[in-house]
Amino acid sequence: MKVLEGIYQLITPFPQYTLAEAKQLRRELEERPRVTKGLPYVLPYLIKGGGETILVDCGWNTEEAYRALAEGMREHGSAPEEVTKLVVTHVHPDHYGMAGRLKQVSDCEVILHERDAEVIKARYMAPRHLTEEMARFMRQHGVPELKAPAMSQGSLGMLGHVAPVPPDRAVTGGEVIKAGDFEFQIIWTPGHSPGHICLYEPNRKVLFTGDHILPTITPNVSIHAQNQGNPLGDYMRSLEVVRKLDVEYVLPAHEFDTRELKRRIEEIHNHHLARLEEMYRCIDRGGSTAWEVASRVQWTTGRLDEFEPFMQRAAVGETLAHLEYLFEMGRVAKVMRDGVLYWLPV
Ligand SMILES: [Zn+2]
Ligand SMILES: [Zn+2]
Repeated sequence: MKVLEGIYQLITPFPQYTLAEAKQLRRELEERPRVTKGLPYVLPYLIKGGGETILVDCGWNTEEAYRALAEGMREHGSAPEEVTKLVVTHVHPDHYGMAGRLKQVSDCEVILHERDAEVIKARYMAPRHLTEEMARFMRQHGVPELKAPAMSQGSLGMLGHVAPVPPDRAVTGGEVIKAGDFEFQIIWTPGHSPGHICLYEPNRKVLFTGDHILPTITPNVSIHAQNQGNPLGDYMRSLEVVRKLDVEYVLPAHEFDTRELKRRIEEIHNHHLARLEEMYRCIDRGGSTAWEVASRVQWTTGRLDEFEPFMQRAAVGETLAHLEYLFEMGRVAKVMRDGVLYWLPV
């Protein structure tokens, strides 16, 4: 689909969907947004100009997704072999999975943020150690003994759908990528991932938002074994960074493109403020673990104990991100009891 001259939206399905299903859902979701069981597709973008063929994100490394990418590129007179640059907004498998394969067929320059480059090895090349680390992490946050092993194994299955490759260029934000008369500024937007980047073209007023801003889904912002610190604080600051930009076309990696950047930022901002209050109310006077708080708050997708292990982990991570933010605000304290971390209202 042409966004404007030289910029095209492609679509690659998630492993459990076919391309036809993904295309159908793409149309349906734009007309009537709703929560689907797992994300159905990724929206990579093709940029052509000045002899460059640039992809922003790609998709999972499956045959169906690769075929979808090739088909989409062909519709716009291009092919995977011709890619000169692959810009990855962040190294989550749905955005980065096919990077190694694209590198192989095109010898493109793979560009991503240095903070995300740091986790490629641990996450995709030597994940065993990571699994143990995660299991320890789960126990520390009060996840019941029975659930912890399944939850830390939760994402190993996706490794078969990722062809990892180190970046040719690790960026930090502020760099400019030129293609004809396009000038794409790399904007570092940590939060959803420590090295998440957006791409901004000020003359055309185009913003590629990756997973930083999606039209109806609130991107997951989590603390996990590899993402400590205060990611929600980072995320809220990153919202302010893009709020200042003059944008007409918002091009996200999921759902559908939109024109409503500022309204959406306001919604997401308010969502997190409300969520912070809700989580705060779920903390016992005497202290609660992240698992206990996560069991008490409302989730749009159901109840925590009915979630798949992978989703339980995301929910605990999301809860922790909010608790840590409350801690930074001085509203809660942390105390360790027998190796388990408890949060207390101040
Ligand atoms: Zn993501
Ligand atoms: Zn994503």
